[in-house]
Amino acid sequence: MHRRSRFAALAVVVISLAGFAAPARAQNSEVVTILGDLVRINTSNPPGNEALVAEYLRTRLEPLGFQVDIVPTPTVGKAHLIARLPATAPDGRKPLLLAGHEDVVGVERPLWTVDPFAGVIRGDRLYGRGALDFKGGLAAFTVAAMRLAREGAPRTRDLILLAEADEEGGSYGTTWLAENHWPKIDASESLNEGGWIFAGGSGGARLMGITTIDKNSLSVTFRTRGTSTHSSRPLADSALRRLVRALDRVEHYDTAPRITPTARRYLRAWARTADAPTARRLRAITTTRRPAVRRRLADQLRDGQWGELFDGLVRNIFVPTIVDSGIRANVLPGTAEATVNMRMLPGQKPRPLIRELRRVVADPKVEITPIVSGDATVTETLDAFDKRARQAPTTTDTDLYRTLSQEGRRQWPGTVVTPALFEAGTDATPWRQRGIPVYGIYPYPINHADLLAMHGNDERVPIKGLEQGTDMLTRVLRRAIGGT
Ligand SMILES: [Zn+2]
Repeated sequence: MHRRSRFAALAVVVISLAGFAAPARAQNSEVVTILGDLVRINTSNPPGNEALVAEYLRTRLEPLGFQVDIVPTPTVGKAHLIARLPATAPDGRKPLLLAGHEDVVGVERPLWTVDPFAGVIRGDRLYGRGALDFKGGLAAFTVAAMRLAREGAPRTRDLILLAEADEEGGSYGTTWLAENHWPKIDASESLNEGGWIFAGGSGGARLMGITTIDKNSLSVTFRTRGTSTHSSRPLADSALRRLVRALDRVEHYDTAPRITPTARRYLRAWARTADAPTARRLRAITTTRRPAVRRRLADQLRDGQWGELFDGLVRNIFVPTIVDSGIRANVLPGTAEATVNMRMLPGQKPRPLIRELRRVVADPKVEITPIVSGDATVTETLDAFDKRARQAPTTTDTDLYRTLSQEGRRQWPGTVVTPALFEAGTDATPWRQRGIPVYGIYPYPINHADLLAMHGNDERVPIKGLEQGTDMLTRVLRRAIGGT
């Protein structure tokens, strides 16, 4: 027998033994079962079909005494779920709201190694679109609320579980819901998606960010025109050439780093958990007053661990996400278009940032226009973002914040808990704009590769972390609702 084939035979035996000994996980926990079910309901938005998630959650919640209200939106197939667990010993306080979105972004299917809508468990993670963002969180919120209902201990106020449509795009998200059904979702404080828990340390996590403010996201269209002709005789005014040049300038441009007050607290806490050189840089960037030093430190930190997350916390970002041009290999197209996504720091208004973008592109023939949603005008859209820019971070001086930090530390001993800025956006705006505290958390410790897979390929969530996060949230609810 050749060595090679003997090895192959051995491998066959090992593989079949492994298959025999471990026929998948014997019994999934409730949160893993629910997350798998949610992932299998394809809510890629558009079209979303979020009503399917609402109906699914109804079947879980109604038998436990939740009053379920499914609010359809003007788009057929899209609905919000509002499930209210009534107080049994009301003390006059307003409800606590748990909010998570039902929809997910689409997938580039050929780039996935598993079916994104099958809820596959591989190793210690559950894979699928939305596993991390935010069906994992929605499952954790749901199971924590279900446990509270089952326990039957006195509840001093209502708990509302809100599963939302149109967070990943579309016109009927929480802003629409708040305009049309505010009394149903009015609350004294809320938990939503947001802060990251960095896996590591001896207790399983080393840093837990609780977000108190989000960046804002607005996209613009770049549009160019040129002479459409035979590709054998390209002209200098090619639409595509002009667009590529504009995008190249955007790609090579960095906005100046700026440390907002919330980011400063976050980065200082981060420094306590980082390796020595990173910690030194993180501390230095929160204190320096010299723009050149700040930029040098920001560039170094961007090249380090969790670098792109850091970068998102300290800069306004311009990034091309969609390019569209051309119809045939031998036709020089007459138009070319790209979508450039702008991610604005708290306090940043959109108009000056669009002017900055025009300066970077430095070509008046590239038309730059904000993308509006629904039938809003450009002026209305920009005014709405001006208002968002003025939004203040949620205070950390609340019982809910204190409870969440204590339970985070109890769940993952040694973890540093900090208020944080969310580098992406959420649908928490209607509550924050009404002065209602909103805290953001992805309730599971993740590593850097998990973070990269969010809105990417092979999105997944660590199963043990998801279960731990659900336990932590259960204790938070017991204290916030049960008053224990
Ligand atoms: Zn999300």
